[in-house]
Amino acid sequence: MLSDTRSADRSLFSQTFDICIIGAGPAGITLARRLARSGWNVALMEGGDVDFTDESQDLYIGEITGIPYTDLDAARLRYLGGTSNHWGGACRELDAYDFTPWPHIALSGWPISKSDLDPYQPEVNDILDLKPPAGFPDHPIDHDEHLFRKIDYRQSGPTRFGPKYKDELVASDKIQLVLNANLVDLRLDSELQTVTEAVFRGYGTDDPGFTVQARIYCLCCGGMENPRILLNARSQALKGIGNNYDLVGRYFCEHPFITAGEILFEEPFYVREEFAPTPAVIGETRILNYNMHVAPWSYGSPLSLPKEVARSAACATPFLDRLVTEVLGKSLKCDNDAYGITGYRAKREEAFHGRLDLQMEQSLLPGNRIMLIEDTDRFGLNKIAMDWNLGALDHRTIRAAVMGIGTHLAAHGIGRVKVPDWLLDDDWDAMVSSGSIRGSMHHMCTTRMSDNAREGVVDADCRIHGMTNLYVGGSSVFATAGHATPTYTICQLALRLGDHLTQEAANPA
Ligand SMILES: Cc1cc2nc3c(=O)[nH]c(=O)nc-3n(C[C@H](O)[C@H](O)[C@H](O)COP(=O)(O)OP(=O)(O)OC[C@H]3O[C@@H](n4cnc5c(N)ncnc54)[C@H](O)[C@@H]3O)c2cc1C
Repeated sequence: MLSDTRSADRSLFSQTFDICIIGAGPAGITLARRLARSGWNVALMEGGDVDFTDESQDLYIGEITGIPYTDLDAARLRYLGGTSNHWGGACRELDAYDFTPWPHIALSGWPISKSDLDPYQPEVNDILDLKPPAGFPDHPIDHDEHLFRKIDYRQSGPTRFGPKYKDELVASDKIQLVLNANLVDLRLDSELQTVTEAVFRGYGTDDPGFTVQARIYCLCCGGMENPRILLNARSQALKGIGNNYDLVGRYFCEHPFITAGEILFEEPFYVREEFAPTPAVIGETRILNYNMHVAPWSYGSPLSLPKEVARSAACATPFLDRLVTEVLGKSLKCDNDAYGITGYRAKREEAFHGRLDLQMEQSLLPGNRIMLIEDTDRFGLNKIAMDWNLGALDHRTIRAAVMGIGTHLAAHGIGRVKVPDWLLDDDWDAMVSSGSIRGSMHHMCTTRMSDNAREGVVDADCRIHGMTNLYVGGSSVFATAGHATPTYTICQLALRLGDHLTQEAANPA
């Protein structure tokens, strides 16, 4: 069922839902569908419309400090389907050893293991339209298999969750999808442990707002907005909800994407190959996980599109894709800053010149954070600033990755790597000022999962520590980032949360 705050009869909300899910991106839609199948009455509250609108997207405006980053209102999308409306569709599951603690990585390890998420692979493959073969097997590697794995990503359509699932959501008699419904507050009981109602506003200037009651609430508003909502919810909890230990918004992780060197290939090199360190190398050299792309230089060269195009997801339209293909002979891929072109074969003379691109896990630094600033949005909620920097372990990983792959390529006659000066000089400011680093638009760990309330905001079931009925979906709950793109894991976690809630309802404590 579909309603819209612009026109809806709000008596609709006099009932108590089983769950109120806030945010209809990949996390929220996946959770809603799962629970509806179990017979739950779901209120799925989406702040945007079916399509892009400026009034919704403007609510994502924020500030950036630290490493230069895409404007926050272009780094995600705020309407039905969320940021899947311009994601690139690259999919990979986390490695089993991303879940285990490492002595050299502070706060590493998840309270769950890969085997807790594996059962959801077939359904996630289906959700993300990943074609067989299932799984993510390594490619055979000719040399140095004790040092590297040759890995692959799988390509989703890319699946756009709004267009794919809208009709199903609207047809469902178990799901009430409400558009243009912006969560502005969460009201708590006197113990401050249970959410009693969620407060929403539409866009009308005289909109009085309305409340939704449910047994359970789940925030699925993305890795920056989930912490923003919790930090803003100070009408009763003075530090915000779930923030007793000042952790909400901290440990923000990206997948730093670093242009890490040029390659002169011995023979023309046409494809893109991806390498990751073996777990033995991670442990012995005391680094983080990463993937290193080895490719002809022209593969994935950036095409600058204006911010307005990136922000509006117009880059995802088939029209623009066709235009770029026809004019440039290259296909457009909405990835990294929403303006990349990729997927074409270099000419022979181009194929001797290659590049090393590193996409890496990031260490958990408390100073990397989403925090509130004084400036407020149209609903009076504080906007955010994102502070994002690298630390010593990140630097060590970059150095080890470039030197390791460089040695591998040279030793086996594949090519020679020209290491950038900033790396030789250990000059990390120069890496940043040369524009060699950017984000991947993956926003993780800001309400991280931990068994210990002093180290994380949610528990292993994605429930906020100290709260009885408030859960979080999306990559803000990642305990660590790994190097894999996040959306596959986001969908696995949403299905697992759906199962957990259903089982808990069937067997109350
Ligand atoms: C250019 C780009 C390329 C990407 N490429 C990849 C890729 O190749 N592979 C990959 O795995 N990931 C990729 N990502 C990341 C991917 O898009 C996200 O991981 C994914 O969309 C997150 O899903 P989510 O449901 O947690 O959040 P979102 O998709 O951000 O959805 C959040 C939803 O909450 C709604 N909302 C927000 N605030 C409120 C509020 N107050 N009230 C009500 N509703 C609200 C929003 O409107 C939105 O619909 C990319 C991202 C970008 C920007």
